Amino acid sequence: MKAAVWHGGEDIRVEEAPEPRVGPDDVLIRVEYAGVCGSDLHLMDGWLIQPPAVLGHEFAGVVEAKGENVTVCIKGDRVVAHPLSSCGQCAYCRSGRQNLCRKPARVLSHGEGAFAEYTVVNARSVFVLPDSVGLSTAALVEPVSIAVHVTSLAGIQPGSFVVVFGAGTIGLLCLKMAKQAGARSVAVVEPCASRQDTALRLGADFAASPGEIKDLVDTATGGLGPDVCIEGVGAIAAVEQAIQLARPGGRVVIAGWSPPHATATVKPAYLFRQEIGIQGSFWSSYSAFGTAVDLVQAWGLELASMVTVFEGLGSLREAVALMRGREVIKPLIKIV
Ligand SMILES: [Zn+2]
Ligand SMILES: [Zn+2]
Repeated sequence: MKAAVWHGGEDIRVEEAPEPRVGPDDVLIRVEYAGVCGSDLHLMDGWLIQPPAVLGHEFAGVVEAKGENVTVCIKGDRVVAHPLSSCGQCAYCRSGRQNLCRKPARVLSHGEGAFAEYTVVNARSVFVLPDSVGLSTAALVEPVSIAVHVTSLAGIQPGSFVVVFGAGTIGLLCLKMAKQAGARSVAVVEPCASRQDTALRLGADFAASPGEIKDLVDTATGGLGPDVCIEGVGAIAAVEQAIQLARPGGRVVIAGWSPPHATATVKPAYLFRQEIGIQGSFWSSYSAFGTAVDLVQAWGLELASMVTVFEGLGSLREAVALMRGREVIKPLIKIV
């Protein structure tokens, strides 16, 4: 099969690669669309894995083959899959927290990813799509599932005032989820004017630069601050600003991947006195993934406005470059 292999730096080449082996509990999926994620760029920056590797963990496709134990799908089914094939045995898996699985069987973003004609996952992670969801929209199920997970950890209530840092894919989807959860107002912090416009179009009540947000939120909340801040950038400055901005008793959710060795400055006495909660949010559970399948069905057209489609595996290199330049929000590679 053909795969787009990352060889370090920005070097991605389409090459012949062995078709993945299908174990008795596995599903082989012919990938139709695969999204490029900010975390793929971080992997290419050397944050977690070494080349050569096939990246790509946001995808939708069609079942090509399955192992003898698999009953959740049949050949020809249109599917999405959580990119983390959990072990199904550990205490986290058994309590529905597959994102924290201690010994996953396979993690697509670690090198056997979806920027290829075929990818293989454990059947536990597979979700068959309703007929009404197109495969290009379905490739967004994974990032939507992250926003579902963030929102559940954020404790957003009807009437909450929420500030989201960053109008990239995760920030914009967290904005939509916060609205869905009943937030009375959602403000998006984003320096780039065109991304501010995208946030407003997707339902943000306010969009502001990092320098403007405090005055804006103070005015809107009578000086109290937001109930919830969601950091969707992975920027240390945004983490620190979110902690300062949250109201007494408020919560800060860290949903962005910051450089592995970067540190932020927090004053424990301030967290103590103001009862600020800090919550990490990593990937998503399988149940959040299932919720995301339902949501992409409802949100289809709005999600399409975030997407730029690139034709063929050979276009991955260009898609990555445009994403680094912040010229596109969510590139989708049409594999075939
Ligand atoms: Zn992703
Ligand atoms: Zn596990």
